[in-house]
Amino acid sequence: MGKKEALYEGKAKIMYATDKADELLVYYKDDATAGNGAKKGTIADKGVMNNKMTAFFFGLLEKEGIKTHLVKVTGEREMLVKKMDMVPLEVIVRNVAAGSLSKRLGVPEGTPLREPVLEYCYKDDALGDPMVNEYHILAMEWATKEELDLIASYSFKINQVLSDYLRQANIELIDFKLEFGKTKDGQIVLADEISPDTCRFWDAQTHEKLDKDRFRRDLGGVEDAYQEILRRLLGE
Ligand code: 5GP
Repeated sequence: MGKKEALYEGKAKIMYATDKADELLVYYKDDATAGNGAKKGTIADKGVMNNKMTAFFFGLLEKEGIKTHLVKVTGEREMLVKKMDMVPLEVIVRNVAAGSLSKRLGVPEGTPLREPVLEYCYKDDALGDPMVNEYHILAMEWATKEELDLIASYSFKINQVLSDYLRQANIELIDFKLEFGKTKDGQIVLADEISPDTCRFWDAQTHEKLDKDRFRRDLGGVEDAYQEILRRLLGE
């Protein structure tokens, strides 16, 4: 498995071509951004921790029947993944009001939601990832109705699996963001990552934030929070 040219460099990851046309190598960086790139910094060893956590969560989800793009972990910051056509959406699932939902609806952070809430954003940095609904997605042909129904049902299942698992580790899953792709044979598969960069994790008792909000909001103790999640999940 040779790493070839970089195909795409994002804010937190680099995608490389490999010897196989249908596989890519993902390299997890320590770079952190917030506010659509307005705030920049690094989180020491974030790439190592997020690679580990994503591999762990994807393994857990695969056991529960959710297909992911992960082929195998190839290094402390690297994983081999299936190449796919990405659906240009950020799929957000929320269990408790926080972040942009709290701002938009004027609901205090920490307010439990009676039902999980599903939101879609169109993935476009230049536009600031605007929120869209199912009608926009179908009209713009970003996904078909069948694909979107699958994306929604996988997202709720993922919420259930992750929430149940995290609860045992004394972590409350407040909300998270997913991305999906489509394989050559048309299967919808979970892609991207699941980590404290893409989820809000709160200590179930104290409600202490153990995720990227510590960086976004200058709360300090960013590395320690990522490390604490890793310790509770993997005993490391
Ligand atoms: P909010 O819309 O409240 O800012 O974010 C909701 C959830 O989705 C949070 O867990 C947040 O980490 C995740 N999320 C939303 N948009 C992005 C994004 O562009 N990048 C990352 N890493 N996470 C996001």
